[in-house]
Amino acid sequence: MPGAVRKERGLISALQKMDKDPNHIPKLEKAIAQKYGAETVDNPRKFWDDVKEQQYIEQSKLTVEKLRKNEAQVEKVETDGFLINKKLLNKDTNRVCSVCEKYSFDVGDNLYINKFDCCRKCYVQWVEDRERRWLTGWRPQKEKENNG
Ligand SMILES: [Zn+2]
Repeated sequence: MPGAVRKERGLISALQKMDKDPNHIPKLEKAIAQKYGAETVDNPRKFWDDVKEQQYIEQSKLTVEKLRKNEAQVEKVETDGFLINKKLLNKDTNRVCSVCEKYSFDVGDNLYINKFDCCRKCYVQWVEDRERRWLTGWRPQKEKENNG
């Protein structure tokens, strides 16, 4: 955590204590003066709003930056020996196995769903060692035919 943020947090907790214990004010004023200059001490209430707002802005900036970074980064991660786009792994869509039609909550299934359109269990049962057959379009017979 950057030192500035830690300092800010300390200031916030000092401000929170201020409401309960008026003796904290001199300490608080000193802290504010050190960080923001003496003139801000005049109106700690106003300052409290500024801190909150500033924190909110900083937080938003960090979040946006993080999102932007994630988007720009096309990271390849290795899963079970396959190299796959990390973005695909994190994608929340297409999580339904086309064979057993179950929604997968297991991130370990992502690779199989993305690559073979089926969960890991079905991969082991139907695809493993027979990938060529699978990729040419062969699928196991469904237990119940669905005409809908
Ligand atoms: Zn399945």
